[in-house]
Amino acid sequence: MPVTRLHLACDHCDAAAWLGPRADRGAVRTKAAAASVDAWCEACQLAQAAPGAGAPCTRCGTPLTAGAPRFAELWGALQECDAVLAAWTGDPQPLRTLLPERPRFLTDLAPPAIDAAEPVTELVARGDYAGALAAAKPATAQGWAARAIAHERRGDAAAATADWSRVLEAHDAASLHARARLARGSLHARAGEWDAAEADLALAGEGFEARWDRAAVRVHRAVEITPGLPDAALITRAQTQVPEVTPYWSDPTIARLLWTLLVERSLERQGPMRSDCPDVRVLRAAESFFEFDSFWDRAMMLLGWTRVNVMREVARHASLLAEAHLHALTLEPPVRGQALAPLAAAIEAARRAVHLREPAAARAALAPMLERADLRHYRLPCAVCGVGSVGVDAVDEAGGEEDETAL
Ligand SMILES: [Zn+2]
Ligand SMILES: [Zn+2]
Repeated sequence: MPVTRLHLACDHCDAAAWLGPRADRGAVRTKAAAASVDAWCEACQLAQAAPGAGAPCTRCGTPLTAGAPRFAELWGALQECDAVLAAWTGDPQPLRTLLPERPRFLTDLAPPAIDAAEPVTELVARGDYAGALAAAKPATAQGWAARAIAHERRGDAAAATADWSRVLEAHDAASLHARARLARGSLHARAGEWDAAEADLALAGEGFEARWDRAAVRVHRAVEITPGLPDAALITRAQTQVPEVTPYWSDPTIARLLWTLLVERSLERQGPMRSDCPDVRVLRAAESFFEFDSFWDRAMMLLGWTRVNVMREVARHASLLAEAHLHALTLEPPVRGQALAPLAAAIEAARRAVHLREPAAARAALAPMLERADLRHYRLPCAVCGVGSVGVDAVDEAGGEEDETAL
């Protein structure tokens, strides 16, 4: 692994600092020296050598940064706060823009290995899908797989399904069998053809995509046939089929999928709900299946409640999320420094407004901070000159191997 060092510099004065493992390569190294880093205090903007990231600043006690600076995350965090507060006031649009559209069924569209006898494989590897579809009809499973991928990349699901079938019929299908089953099963699932999807996916192997798709088909079917919440055992079984899901914001999880499907079903059934409607109980119960307690999961629940228009639940989620997010912001090292005192004051004002259940006022308190050019460009006002701003201006990835053996 290469050792990464970041260089911070002010765009106005000559204030600068390196962050990362210390650059004393070639010197006699002891264990202690190898462990030491060039660190920087984001609150008082003082460079110093430290035993590791997170050690306290010698001047102000704030945890030191030795890797990616925290100030680069501030604008994103403010934007998330703003979106939560907007949803609370009844405007879900900013939150909708932040939240990812997660895939419901997974597939594998990586190009198959290039075969000189099948020009289509080379064209697909190059990303020339129109060219691939104009090329001579393939003779092998590999060629048909490339062609199916070209169709799918161009959005023609029916033609892709047909070509995956040709992969399975080819004389040399064996090596691509599971892959073609996954691809065709996933296409059937996206079309809502559950029986065909299950038949293919059962033979699609044990890769993550195949297990996810099998579990996702079960969840879709269950939501379709159950008027209320699908059987809890079925949901937990689906969750255990794909235990390696992560809280990463855009990853699919079974609970995230279930939630999306239940919100959509409620909207189809009756449009906006009354708060005594049975679907409110169903959605509230579905919250307990969420695998993670991340901002993205909470924000997803909030958006769902906004879409079905149950404002009591919207307020419950939004106030908790805003409180947690604003509190976390007050602990950020750069927010604790003088250079960002106006931001700290805005966060305090927003917290008071949230406490009084006044989301519009909280939003107004944060609005000028979202407009700041330094934060928008992932920079921090320079405490040395008070005029410029500090940002990463160089990344050094040299010398990694040497450092590893030196330990
Ligand atoms: Zn400090
Ligand atoms: Zn400066």
